[in-house]
Amino acid sequence: MDIKKIILSTIVSSILTVSSITAVQATYNSSEGQAVSDETVTVYSSRKEHLIKPLFEAFTKDTGIKVEYLTGKGGALIERLKLEGDNTQADMFMTVDAGNLWYAGSQDLFQSVQTETIKSNIPAHLRDPKGLWTGLSVRARTIVYSTDRVKEQDLSTYANLATDQWKDRLCLRTSKKVYSKSLVASMIYNQGEDKTGDIISGWVNNLSATPNAKDSHVMNSILAGQCDVGIVNTYYFGRLIAKNPHSPLKLFWANQDTTGVHVNVSGAGVTKHASNKEGAVQLLEWLSSAKAQVIYGSLNKEYPANQKVASDDVVSAWGSFKQDEMNLSQAGLLQARAVRLMQIKGYR
Ligand code: FE
Repeated sequence: MDIKKIILSTIVSSILTVSSITAVQATYNSSEGQAVSDETVTVYSSRKEHLIKPLFEAFTKDTGIKVEYLTGKGGALIERLKLEGDNTQADMFMTVDAGNLWYAGSQDLFQSVQTETIKSNIPAHLRDPKGLWTGLSVRARTIVYSTDRVKEQDLSTYANLATDQWKDRLCLRTSKKVYSKSLVASMIYNQGEDKTGDIISGWVNNLSATPNAKDSHVMNSILAGQCDVGIVNTYYFGRLIAKNPHSPLKLFWANQDTTGVHVNVSGAGVTKHASNKEGAVQLLEWLSSAKAQVIYGSLNKEYPANQKVASDDVVSAWGSFKQDEMNLSQAGLLQARAVRLMQIKGYR
């Protein structure tokens, strides 16, 4: 590593929220017939520790393979992987949103992994077509509304929120967030740029306030009476309802007669320079398995990516829905167009 790389690497390390690698040392017992190994898989993750640690512990228990992990902001971890190049310790990178996974793939940070196990566990639209990354949990981005001020029969599609009946009644999250970019990318994919541009103009026209920084703020604004409808990821609704079960808010499944609800994933890929590729593939396959998917989904009130696995009770209570089956690599491929369109139409 030359001196410039070392200095840059130090800068990147200092902006990571956790800069030391944490090892999960789950105990395992060879007398119970479980494999014992000195192997370690190292994961860089933008998912928070409490969402990944229980999974890694269960994996170690099952396989004897230790998992070391480093958590931080997704963007900083991607920069770190780029700087470290073939010196990286990371065998796997985990993050949220297909837009981010696609970006890591476009920066040549992943290698292709397309095993029969992964193909049979995870549907094709939730995986990169070239096998660079695999979705491991599903979040739906759909409509949330005030049960006090909105009738369910007035809701239908994302596009419907652009019509006059929602004037000064809509709250949206900022266009700067990747979740907004991916939703708009899916609309461009399904309906073309012109139609999507018209919808965005209508949304902007209907906003009751400047776009919110967070999905939780969108829901709080509805509860405060500032607006009546919004668009959020389902697990944020789950968190709010867990705290205040009687909140007068409900989810509505958008586009059920058309393209289906826009879904996105959290996921992972095996790094291009993995020193333990075999262990990383084993971890990826294990994470896609029914056993892991039950844990993975319930930890953050998400949907299992493995469609053979049932959702947790809280999540199931929100009802079933048809999901948009656009391949999620499109969220990356169309991201630049989505960003430009939102800019042109004044969605801030
Ligand atoms: Fe989120």
